[in-house]
Amino acid sequence: MKIVQVETFSVEPRWVFIKISTDEGLHGWGESLGDKAPVIAAAVHNYEDGLLGQDPRRIQHLWQALYRGAFWRGGPVLNAAISGIEMALWDILGKSLGAPVYQLLGGAVRDRIRVYSRPHGSTSTELAESARNLVTQGFTAFKLCPFDRVKMVDHYQVVEEAVNRVSAIRDAVGSGVDILLDFHGRVTPAMAIWLEEALRSCHPMFIEEPALPENVDAMANLARQFKTPIATGERLFTKWGFREILEKSAAAVLQPDPCICGGIFEARAIAAMAEAYYVAVAPHNPYGPINLAAALQIDACTPNFLIQEYVHLGEGYLKAPFEVTNGYIELPNGPGLGIELNEDFLKSRPLQPKPDVGRWFHADDGSMADW
Ligand SMILES: [Mg+2]
Repeated sequence: MKIVQVETFSVEPRWVFIKISTDEGLHGWGESLGDKAPVIAAAVHNYEDGLLGQDPRRIQHLWQALYRGAFWRGGPVLNAAISGIEMALWDILGKSLGAPVYQLLGGAVRDRIRVYSRPHGSTSTELAESARNLVTQGFTAFKLCPFDRVKMVDHYQVVEEAVNRVSAIRDAVGSGVDILLDFHGRVTPAMAIWLEEALRSCHPMFIEEPALPENVDAMANLARQFKTPIATGERLFTKWGFREILEKSAAAVLQPDPCICGGIFEARAIAAMAEAYYVAVAPHNPYGPINLAAALQIDACTPNFLIQEYVHLGEGYLKAPFEVTNGYIELPNGPGLGIELNEDFLKSRPLQPKPDVGRWFHADDGSMADW
């Protein structure tokens, strides 16, 4: 079997899909980071010469060739391109063998996959109401960032408002529901300590990215001072990118994103490393339905999986969109990634150009805030 074509589809709302076709009529789908779509799509096509004519079933070999085959490696753009390509190769391999990818990776270790949602609104009342609705729909977990722009050292009001929002949700849903807090790398370690101490009374399941990923020691220091578990990893790539987090016990939950971290097999490798440190894995995915399909394959066969993020089940894009029932998605049982794309729909939703520049500023002095 040989690869004969590599195509990219940049589609609304912010996704890059990759289709790899073979000379035997099989094709596979992958998804790459959509935030810098034109650059990511160009990076995918930059790898085309290394893929055309190759056997798509030699996934590890091709990954090694793409990742290690050139002097410059790493970073979000190249890793996202490789991740999306790798995902498509697994889809082809699974289809060629008539098996879901998770069966090829050791088989399912669970019967269904727990997912979390997001409450909507900005006031305490709106958030509490939205959270109550989600619980009524069967969700047992949801995530929010309880603040927006935060200065390097900010007013106590920021902490107070965050606590008010999260307390209102806790009061609305009780203790049997998990509240996940995402600090989004928006705050300094000083503010993170202040916020975590104040939010402890709301018993969040974890706090995500309480520091930016550039400084692992800063995250490790927070882990020493927090009582709440730390989750991180959506902006880290490959087993090498996650190594230091584990060695320094900087997090209790890793969040590799299949469309950025290096792909399905790399996410499994990261999860296996985490398992040795008694660290859980909650794959990141605020992106599209192909990335969700890849994440579900990983979740199905990963013993230390905790919970899955999603924002879109693929309505319109997938011939059979995923369904959430009582906060869980059933294991997909189709071959490969277990999905079929509606190509006409993709072609009717071309991605419109979007700015990818600084966009968040403090109201008082106009200086840049971390997004
Ligand atoms: Mg996040």
